[in-house]
Amino acid sequence: MILIDGKKYRDELLEEYKKKVEDLSISLAIIQVGNNEASNLYITNKIKYSSQVGINVEYFNLDTEDEKEVEELINQLNENDNITGIILQSPTPNMNYDRLAEMIDSKKDVDGFTKENIYKLYMKEEAIIPCTVKGIIKLLDHYNIPISGSNICIIGRGNIVGKPLALALTNRDATVTLCHSKTKKLKDITKKADIIISAVGKPNMITEDMVKKDFVGIDVGINKVNGKTVGDFDFENIKDKASYITPVPGGVGPMTIAMIIDNLIEMAEKN
Ligand code: NDP
Repeated sequence: MILIDGKKYRDELLEEYKKKVEDLSISLAIIQVGNNEASNLYITNKIKYSSQVGINVEYFNLDTEDEKEVEELINQLNENDNITGIILQSPTPNMNYDRLAEMIDSKKDVDGFTKENIYKLYMKEEAIIPCTVKGIIKLLDHYNIPISGSNICIIGRGNIVGKPLALALTNRDATVTLCHSKTKKLKDITKKADIIISAVGKPNMITEDMVKKDFVGIDVGINKVNGKTVGDFDFENIKDKASYITPVPGGVGPMTIAMIIDNLIEMAEKN
């Protein structure tokens, strides 16, 4: 079994990014509404790693329930040529997140959530790919795990991970089965999968009897159990059946942050 080390690969990528950022002038705007505890942590990390590679970060924390204020800020940032990319941190309490996120100029849409970017992904055109999706594919490529022709079972059809990941892997010629809470006989599907990607958010969702020998396991889930962070896999009991497997923490999570920077560099080079 080979443990997929997302942290190590992230650090290698950050070194590469540092060199690229030197030649580009990149500014990231992060908008947070309110003071959600999980958001604070995500934002701290986004600022930390972006700054580390030389990206300028402008952080706006709005203490408001007035959606208009957020709209105005997004419009200003869209028009500001010094801003390369914009992140609207989810959630935006008492506001329609999807509507606000859609207002971000698709060329500055770091998360790849706007309709234009999703449509481009659907059409297999060049698009800004959602960071977790891009990070998973980068990890598979880095470890030379074949995607084309592989049977890939994705569990979870969320808008941020599962659904766009199914599109992106289909674009890479995988045979994708996208499962969710209404899927019947999930085990019959996972047992046949060369690669299992779980993006559910339930500890011990994937157990030893559900996987075939030498499967590749990518665990996107983040769960807190007795103060410890764990994924969706019953890791200790399935790891020995895996050929490659991600730990939680230290697998997909670090890649998501790195791909924010990857997307920003892509935008700066293009625009
Ligand atoms: P969503 O709530 O959007 O999606 C969860 C999905 O899981 C839904 O499609 C749901 O099905 C499905 N599901 C729930 N229960 C079952 C079940 N018993 N069997 C099969 N499918 C089930 O969540 P997200 O996609 O936003 O996040 C998923 C997980 O990934 C979370 O733990 C989140 O914290 C983590 N995450 C990690 C990231 C990282 O960087 N590592 C980034 C983003 C998310 P249905 O649609 O039928 O309700």
